Amino acid sequence: MSDENNKEVKGLKKKEKLLIVAVIVVAVVVMISGTVINAFIPAGKVIITVGNKEYETVSLKENKRIVIENEYGENIIIIKDEQVFMERADCPNKTCVKKGKITKTGQSIVCLPHRLTVTISD
Ligand SMILES: [Zn+2]
Repeated sequence: MSDENNKEVKGLKKKEKLLIVAVIVVAVVVMISGTVINAFIPAGKVIITVGNKEYETVSLKENKRIVIENEYGENIIIIKDEQVFMERADCPNKTCVKKGKITKTGQSIVCLPHRLTVTISD
């Protein structure tokens, strides 16, 4: 009886150990693949749209100052050191300027009065 109990405990411990090893292996693989993917994926791009139409797409690696003037007003977008921000805008609320810098995929700066969006994409 006690032998059987021991076996059960040992079996459980073995399973637990396997589980822990499996979790560590998965974690390491995820970490390594994440690093590898980051190293090989081309830099993100900055997509600028005006009134739902694509205006310009620029690599995030580029350092560029983009001046947009249209019937809505003026916006100056800066792409520098893989950071994007609205340097200047003559919109009434200045939400886009106050937004500050964006650096990550999926982040965006919106200038609602000027119907302008700046989005970082893969
Ligand atoms: Zn604005």
